[in-house]
Amino acid sequence: MPIFAARILNEMVWSQDVSRKDLCEKYGVSKSGITQVVGRLIKSGFIEEGSLLDKNNRGRKTVSLRVRGEAAYFLGTDLEGLAIRACLIDCQRNIIASSKRVIGPSWSVSNIMQHWSETIEEVIESSKVDTDKIVGAGLGLPGTVDIENTTKTRAYLPPGKWAELDLASLLSKFGLESVAADNVFCAAEYERRLGAAIGAGSFLAVLIRYGIGSAIFADGSFLSGEKFLIGEMGHMRLSLNGPKCICGQNGCLDAYVSGRTWVQKDMKSDAAIQQELRQRAKMLAIGLSNILKIFFPKLVVIDGIYNDYEYEFGPWLAESIADELQGVKLPVPRIVFGDTVEFKSSVGAALLAADKFLGKYLEKRISAK
Ligand SMILES: [Zn+2]
Repeated sequence: MPIFAARILNEMVWSQDVSRKDLCEKYGVSKSGITQVVGRLIKSGFIEEGSLLDKNNRGRKTVSLRVRGEAAYFLGTDLEGLAIRACLIDCQRNIIASSKRVIGPSWSVSNIMQHWSETIEEVIESSKVDTDKIVGAGLGLPGTVDIENTTKTRAYLPPGKWAELDLASLLSKFGLESVAADNVFCAAEYERRLGAAIGAGSFLAVLIRYGIGSAIFADGSFLSGEKFLIGEMGHMRLSLNGPKCICGQNGCLDAYVSGRTWVQKDMKSDAAIQQELRQRAKMLAIGLSNILKIFFPKLVVIDGIYNDYEYEFGPWLAESIADELQGVKLPVPRIVFGDTVEFKSSVGAALLAADKFLGKYLEKRISAK
């Protein structure tokens, strides 16, 4: 019973409003069986009855059930560019506390980790939530994450240095289990659960800020190797003799398209900006098409610096992708720009933690009630 109740609860965190009938159908359980489990979950304070749903039963309304926001919480935090962000979300995906700290370009790794730890502490304290109600923590960062050993994660810290970070220790002092991923996976998880990719069976997500990352969501899960979670699309090389990249190679996509090179450009007029954007759309299209020739989803979600120019940039991108893909007879996938959300990567990281730890957490909590 506790395990089944936890499964139902886990499901409800993700699907929000459901009815008792939905649950009967989904799990093939009798009406009285579901009524018993739901009754127990309501009594223990995990779920509540909500609005009347009008979606079935030939016009007969049924009462919706939803997880109470305060049933459990998830911490998300990310390091990106020159800022650390952290937030705590509840089971109804509301941000209940958040904090952002700007970091200096010349700061040492230990100084950055100290401030990161303080930012997390600030969020937990200001939320007034007991840490035993926090299911786990997700961390986003620009870099390569060793799936089994987050004590040695390699992150790329602006203004251009690789650093080894001990992420597991950062969270374990708060008594929290953690999961880490490149920021692009966090932003992609946000899009999948709450944003532009809701309901998509597969999609390609691209995040262009200081650097460029991509994540592939295929047939229900993100693709990774057995050891590393990597999203370094920026260092895909497009030319052997192109401009020098910060990774040491020449002609990487990053050198043509990243936020790093965008801020360094001296663009004095609107016409110069438009021309630069058009050229960037073309180079990004070549990079994207290199992936699309191997993995072709129906949807590509783009986040980052070009979202402000979506109405010019989108059509240019689609046009150049069409040029690139016509030789292999592939159509242009749907290209969508995500909404601008300040804590997108942090919320996405929190959702990754929810995905990984919620089931086990609920089983423990329900057994203890
Ligand atoms: Zn590079």
